[in-house]
This record gives sequence, structure tokens and C-alpha cells, in this order.
Amino acid sequence: MLLGTQCVNDAGHLEIGGCDVVDLARRFGTPLYVVDEAFLRDNLRRYKQAFAERYPAETTVYYAAKAFLITAMVRVIDQEGLSLDVASGGELHTALAAGFPPERIILHGNYKSEGELRAALEAGVGRIVVDNFFELRRLNALAAETGRVQPVLIRVTPGIDPHTHRRIRTGQEDTKFGINISDGSALEAIGEALDFPNLNLLGIHCHIGSQLLDSKSHEDAIEVMVAFLAQIRETTGRALEELNIGGGLGVRYLPEHKPPTYEEFADTVCATLKRFLKQYDLEPPRLSQEPGRALVAETGTTLYTIGPTKRVNITEDPGSRTYVSVDGGMSDNPRPQLYDAVYTAMVANRAGQPRDQVVTVAGKHCETDLMITDIALGDTDIGDILAVQSTGAYNHAMASNYNRFPRSTVVFVRDGEADVVYERETLDDLLRQDRIPARLAARAS
Ligand SMILES: *Cc1c(COP(=O)(O)O)cnc(C)c1O
Repeated sequence: MLLGTQCVNDAGHLEIGGCDVVDLARRFGTPLYVVDEAFLRDNLRRYKQAFAERYPAETTVYYAAKAFLITAMVRVIDQEGLSLDVASGGELHTALAAGFPPERIILHGNYKSEGELRAALEAGVGRIVVDNFFELRRLNALAAETGRVQPVLIRVTPGIDPHTHRRIRTGQEDTKFGINISDGSALEAIGEALDFPNLNLLGIHCHIGSQLLDSKSHEDAIEVMVAFLAQIRETTGRALEELNIGGGLGVRYLPEHKPPTYEEFADTVCATLKRFLKQYDLEPPRLSQEPGRALVAETGTTLYTIGPTKRVNITEDPGSRTYVSVDGGMSDNPRPQLYDAVYTAMVANRAGQPRDQVVTVAGKHCETDLMITDIALGDTDIGDILAVQSTGAYNHAMASNYNRFPRSTVVFVRDGEADVVYERETLDDLLRQDRIPARLAARAS
């Protein structure tokens, strides 16, 4: 599986963005996150265009920042003309510090603190997605205090169960996110919002889950959302102008994953939307979305240096297992531990070799920390460079300092050039927040 600008060069090494990754590993050290900038920009443009071409009204693509956010990423999103979905005060701060226009920011969260709501109001963010009744009332009061009329959407739960890992399902009724449609609470919230003088209710929002490898759940959600827009018009007389269907489109982690292309996904979403809008006799609302994973996951590759290999005899089939250790693990990619996430990889300095040996890739943390179980990788040796693919989403963003690992460097590569966009933390960075109260200052003599 080669993604984006990935290819195997004459030396038999993996190349990304015209850079030999073995050179990158030598130059920047490992673990190293490599982002394929041309591929990333192409994704952003194509996703935007796929919907703009197929939908009769305005379309907005908010990149879901939580998938991967650093200042350089904000710049790319801005340059490509996308909008930005932030879900915390920290993400908002990063976006604003990078100079991102606040009117193109949407704020999410099931528990936005008063500080976060105030920061969003003061910055003048374009949309706040209200998650619950408590927030609805508080936001109206805070907006009144700051003398603003805040544009909002209300997050509703369509009652769709997308068939994806239980920790990344959010559209079913039993969830902490949003307000249920089926029991009438969502309609009640709409009624309240319309009456609040300091809120401008633009529309409704849903996000049903992540890593969805077909469009079925989105189709089901669209049907429920359009029916709900019709119900709102009927009971309140108001035709809401905006429908936000969240993110969720899946990506290729393994060669056998076949998510719809952006164009296929846009075909399905837009056709489904047009069909139900017609059925309920509604004018097309503005269509907004918040893809995260689908835009960035495949553009990232993580490089590791292979360390000791161990073959252990086991009583079950196949009688033995070979553990290949790498110099990272759950601190730079917690997804295998969190969601049983699967990945593929290649030995980057022998990218063309036959994959005739099955091994298990283990991280170096003091936990089981398995990164890839039973992968056909071929020969490996100490010092080889392992390239794990599709690590662009929810890897750097979820990285921790567990075991006191410094967070790793991120480089953007393009046209043979590599630029650091996140500097590897140092051992001293790990001590930066530590404080010694006086009673702990004395050392044992
Ligand atoms: C996580 C999230 C997204 C992005 O999800 P992806 O699966 O990465 O596309 C979009 N909107 C909301 C509200 C989210 O919580």
C-alpha cells in the first residue's frame, strides 16, 4: 500500500514528498512523524470541491482540529480556504495564535467551561455548537453580558448506531453528546434557542461516529436530520438555514480497507440530501461538515528505529511469535491500546523485500504496548527503519509523555524538502512543570 506521494526509490527505500525516509530518520531522529504536505493539500482541496460541485447551496468544510493540530497545520487549513472545528480552549487558542479568522471557527464540546465560552465569544467565533440545555441558557446569559448575538447550532442525536468501534460511536441515543430527537428534547431546545435574544439559531448539527467505511450511517442520519428540519418548520414556522453533518468518513489503515472516495461519499451524501429535502419540500440549507481523520490520517507516516527482536515459544498456534521492538509506542500512538486500532507498516530501508515473515511490532513502554499484531513484514534487523502508515490523525494529537517520553518531532515534507513543524521535546522539557516545595528540598544525607 503506497499512499499520496509515497514511492520506493532506486535504493529500495521508501520516499515521501521526494525525501528518502531513511535520510529523514538519520537527520531528525526517531520516532518521527512525517506529513506528506502535497497529499494533505490535495485532500483538503478535493474534499471541498467534491461537495461544492454536487450540492446546490453553499457548502462549508470545517477541518476537525482534534485529529491533528499544530500551528503549521492551522496555516495550511487557512491557505486552502477551509474552516476550523475546535473542541477546547487549547485548540481555540492555537487557532487564534496562528492568526486563523475567528469567523471561520466552530466551537464544540459537551462541557465547555465558562472560560472557554467567554474566550469564544470574545474572539467572535463564527459558530458555537450547543450540546445541552444548561449550556444553552448559560451561553445566552454570557452573550448578553458581552453584548453579542452569538450564532449557534444545536447538536442533536439522530439515534443512528454506526457500526464502528464502541469508543468512537456518537450517533446512538445512549451517548453523552447532544440532545435526543426521539424523545422531543431536541425540539424543546430549538424552541428555547429561538426565544433567546442573544443567540442566533442557524441550524442543527450531528456527528454520528468515526472511521466509517461506508456511507450507510450518514444516509440514515441525513434522513433523520431532514425530517427533523421539517418538524421544526412545522412546529415553529422557522426554516433553519444550516445543516451540519459532522465528520466520520473512514480511511485506509490496511490495504483491504476500501472507504468511499471523497467523490463517491459526496455523491451519496448530496443525492440523499436532495432526495429527502424534496420529499419534505424544504429549500436546501447550507451544508457544513467536519471531517478530521479523512483529511489527514493517510498523509502521516511514523518512522521508528527497530531494536531487539525476540522469538518466544507459545503453546497456541503457530507455536512461536517474533516480537520486533521499536523506539516508540503508546506515547506517540495510543490508538492500538485505546481502540484496538490496526495499522500496516514496511521496513523502509528494504521497502521492496518479500513479506515472508510474520512478526508482532511492540513499543518500548512498560505495558504490553503492542503496535501491530502479526504483520507480514519480511526480514528485520536492529537499526532498520520501520515506517507505520496512516498515522496522520489522532497520533501526534493524542501523544503523551507516558514513561517520561519526550513528544516526537513532526516534519512536513514536500518536493524533496523537509521542515520541522513540531520540535522534539527535550529531557529538560519533561522537568519544566515540576516544582519542588520547600519540605522536599532537603536531600537525604
Ligand atoms: C471527532 C469529531 C469530528 C471528526 O471526526 P472524524 O471521524 O475524524 O472525521 C467532527 N465533528 C465532531 C463534533 C467530532 O467530535
